[in-house]
Amino acid sequence: MRGMTFGGDRTVEFIEVPDPVPGPGEVVLEMKASGICGSDLHMYRGPRGMSLLGATPSEPVIRGHEPCGVVAAIGPGVAENQAKIGDRVMVHHYTGCGVCRHCRTGWPQMCDQQRPLVYGSGAGHGGHAPYMKVPAATLVLLPDELSFEAGAAIACGTGTAFAALRRLNLSGADTITIFGQGPVGLAGTQLAAAMGARVIAVDLSPERLELARRMGADEVINSSEVNPVEAIRDLTDKGADLSMDASGATEARHAALESLRPWGTLALVGVGGEFKPTLGWLMPKQTTVFGSFTFSITGQADCANFAARREVRVDEIFTDRWTLDQADAAYKKADTQTAGKGVIML
Ligand SMILES: [Zn+2]
Ligand SMILES: [Zn+2]
Repeated sequence: MRGMTFGGDRTVEFIEVPDPVPGPGEVVLEMKASGICGSDLHMYRGPRGMSLLGATPSEPVIRGHEPCGVVAAIGPGVAENQAKIGDRVMVHHYTGCGVCRHCRTGWPQMCDQQRPLVYGSGAGHGGHAPYMKVPAATLVLLPDELSFEAGAAIACGTGTAFAALRRLNLSGADTITIFGQGPVGLAGTQLAAAMGARVIAVDLSPERLELARRMGADEVINSSEVNPVEAIRDLTDKGADLSMDASGATEARHAALESLRPWGTLALVGVGGEFKPTLGWLMPKQTTVFGSFTFSITGQADCANFAARREVRVDEIFTDRWTLDQADAAYKKADTQTAGKGVIML
C-alpha cells in the first residue's frame, strides 16, 4: 500500500508499507476522507521525519490525523458492539496505556504512563493512504447525517473547537470573539453560531473573513486594518463576554484578553507564540483564562451528535478537495494559510 508522508522543507513523499492486517483488538478501515489540519503545517515545514506528538517514529510514517472511513476488516477479539464491517467511523487518533486515569476517562493523549501512540502526527500510520489500522477502542461512530468529510473535520479541528466552546459554557446570551479564522477558528465560528451566540470573527486575511461570514459570523474584523480591541469594544458593551484564540499568535492572544469585558473568559486553543498577560488585565477584571487541548473520545462523539442534530454543515469548512495523488498541491495550498480547509478524498 502507498501512503503519504512529509519529506521535509515543504515537500511530500510517498512511501510503500505492507498492507495492514488487523491483529487482536484491531480493525482496518478503508479510508474515505483524511483532513489537513493546521498542525500538519509544522511537520510539512519542518525537517524530514519530524513528529509532533507522543512516541517518536523510527521510520517514516503515513501522515493525516483526521481519519474517517468504513470498517473493512476486523481482528480477533473485537466485540460486535465495538465494530462491524461497513460501520462508518471516525478515529480518535491516540492510544495510551489504557489503564491510567486519563486513558480511562477518554483522554489517552494525556496518558501519564507512556508516551501515547498518535496516529498521523506521531508514530502511528495515519489516514493519507487507502487503508489504516487502529485499535477498535479508538473508533467513534459517524452519525448517518454527516458526510465522511464532516467526520474528518470532527476528528481534529472541529472537535477541538467544540471542546473549547463547551468549556466556555457558551450560551445564546453571549458575544464571543474568535481570533484566527483558520480551520479551528472557522469551526469555532460555525459551532458558536449554531449554539446561538453572537460571533465576532477576527483575522488578517480577507478571504478567511469572507469564509467566517459564510460560517455564521455576525461581525468580522480585519486586524491588519483596525485595532481589534477598539473595534470589539465598539461592537459590544465594554467588551466581549467570551473569547477564543485559535491563531497561536502572541499579539492576537493579548488582544483576545484585552477585548474581554470584566468577568470575561478566554480559551487558549491555538498553538505557538507567547502569552504574557499583565495582572492589570487579569485581577481587577476578574478574568478567567484556560488552555484547551484537543478533546476526549466521548467529546468527539458529542461534537458529531451535536452537528447531526442541529444540522450544522460541518463539511462547508472544506474549500479544497484533493485526491491522494494531489497531496503535493494540497499541502502547498494549505501552506498559504489564506484558504479554508483541505481534505484528501480516498
Ligand atoms: Zn489536528
Ligand atoms: Zn494511560
